[in-house]
Amino acid sequence: MTPIVGIDLGTTNSLVALCDERGPRVLPDAQGRPLLPSVVRYQPGLPPIVGEDARAHAADFPGWTISSVKRLMGRGRADAEADLPFLPYRVAEGEHATARVALPDGRVLTPQEVSADILRALRDQAAAALGQPVSRAVITVPAYFDDAQRQATRDAARLAGLDAVRLVAEPTAAALAYGFGLDRASARNAGERTLAVFDLGGGTFDASILRLVPGNRDIFQVLATAGDTRLGGDDVDRLLVGLFLSRLGAREVSPAAMQALTLEAQRVKHALSDADAARARLDAHGISLDLEVARDELERLASPWVERALACCARALADARDHLRERPLDAVILVGGATRMPLVRRRVADFFGLPPYTALDPDQVVALGASVQAAILSGSVSGALLLDVIPLSLGIETAGGAFAKLILRNAAIPARATEMFSTSVDGQTSIKLHVLQGEREMAADCRSLGTFHLRGLPPMPAGVPQLEVEFLIDANGVLNVSAHERRSGRRASLQVVPNHGLTRDEIARIESESLVHARDDMTRHRVADLVVNARLDLKWIGERLAALAPRLDPDYAADLRARIDALRALTDAADRDWRAVDPDALHRAKHDLDHASIRLQEVSIAESLKAQLGQS
Ligand code: ADP
Ligand code: MG
Repeated sequence: MTPIVGIDLGTTNSLVALCDERGPRVLPDAQGRPLLPSVVRYQPGLPPIVGEDARAHAADFPGWTISSVKRLMGRGRADAEADLPFLPYRVAEGEHATARVALPDGRVLTPQEVSADILRALRDQAAAALGQPVSRAVITVPAYFDDAQRQATRDAARLAGLDAVRLVAEPTAAALAYGFGLDRASARNAGERTLAVFDLGGGTFDASILRLVPGNRDIFQVLATAGDTRLGGDDVDRLLVGLFLSRLGAREVSPAAMQALTLEAQRVKHALSDADAARARLDAHGISLDLEVARDELERLASPWVERALACCARALADARDHLRERPLDAVILVGGATRMPLVRRRVADFFGLPPYTALDPDQVVALGASVQAAILSGSVSGALLLDVIPLSLGIETAGGAFAKLILRNAAIPARATEMFSTSVDGQTSIKLHVLQGEREMAADCRSLGTFHLRGLPPMPAGVPQLEVEFLIDANGVLNVSAHERRSGRRASLQVVPNHGLTRDEIARIESESLVHARDDMTRHRVADLVVNARLDLKWIGERLAALAPRLDPDYAADLRARIDALRALTDAADRDWRAVDPDALHRAKHDLDHASIRLQEVSIAESLKAQLGQS
């Protein structure tokens, strides 16, 4: 039996995914790119060119490059009238007043044919990634697609040589990707639930309210949808282009320059989702742009744009209010590449009063969910996806490269744990948190789940910051890691799905490896922790000793120096090779130094009291 893949046939980007024992994953193209731009270029006498090439050179082939064809699927030319001014190609009227794509050489294509070219590219991409032919797919469609639009999607699949075994609503697919509706004991116990899906793509916005009824065949019901077919990430590109043009003092530029500015705007926008500032640079088409853009500035520009999306959400919530009175929202899922923007995440969290689900890539989540539906249909969903326990321990990397476990293997979900940490370097204004999964004692031997930064801390001496780290695993197995520095109030967080990407066999192998290495690993962890603490002592005692030496008995000072040297020799040796040091000897040397330094501390306190009295 050939596998059934899941396909997100998007307005801007399309993807293909497969769900197997490891859970769902996107099947990338030969260059490793997960997203296929939904853009097709037709030239006389040449086969259609689909994807990045067609997108990047759209301005060079006006009229021949077809984008956003999803807007025309199953629609009459008259219904699509409002979209026409925005489509950079000609739309003609075909049989039964349907919308058709008209090329400059007189060829007329149905939207189904153009979509079929995209689907064929995805099918080939999946077959190449899997090393076997692909002929069946679950394809997603917007929840509001009517029968004609759904039928057009099926026809496109057939033209591409794909059997569309099921069409699934995009918000439903997003919920499935996060494990909602899968038959997991903890989820069953949770009973009926209500979800909101916030899908902000390239040019369209959809808000949906879903009802999940566990234990039923058709477990998802779309209670309400609202949206805006002219709202998406492209608007932000245009806002940035407007900013560039005003800085350039230009009004009119050539289409080629406009295209280059738009691509640069998009690059800057993407960079600003991760960084506080980014540089826009362009030196082509008679334009010379070099401009630093701060995230704050982008957020000011984009703020009214986000509010428009939230106004749609308010409408969807109002439409579903009867249901929401009985069962308020349990979760908000973010979908669509534009929800990567921190501004969008913040505003959505504020609006719904819930931290949204972001663990999966928002531009992949629909395709991943389609593949989960495909796996359900082919009866192959099992194992990893449905674990009711955490298969491997979860924690963070601490100074010295050790792995601090917060949640232990086999903990039942949902689960929660917190622990306090601090810094090991003076004046750190940013702390990097590395979230890991595994059974070994050192971070390097575990599986990395992701990193995030807690920034903007006021400089403090090592050991003073009070960093509270919380691990929270909800009933769907989604892990929220948050860090909170208590003195400054700074917070940061990361969300991941720890169960994706591992098979039961791999989990078993990781477990057995941890047993093999257990003794060595324990020693290494202990040495790493001792070295970090010894360094803090060496630094503190060394500084005090240097400052107070004239007031100390020379024999005592010499004794302290000798102990410092002994401990430093051990920590340096441990840095070169942890095996070279006996942890007990290291512990003794540290303990001896600490003990011997008590008098130094007393002198230090006495001196500072004296200094204070002298001042007053
Ligand atoms: P669609 O569902 O319409 O096919 P996608 O979900 O792929 O669209 O979203 C595409 C949009 O997401 C584009 O406007 C793109 O610029 C935007 N996008 C992708 N990555 C980022 C990012 N890192 N930051 C901000 N916007 C992003
Ligand atoms: Mg989409």
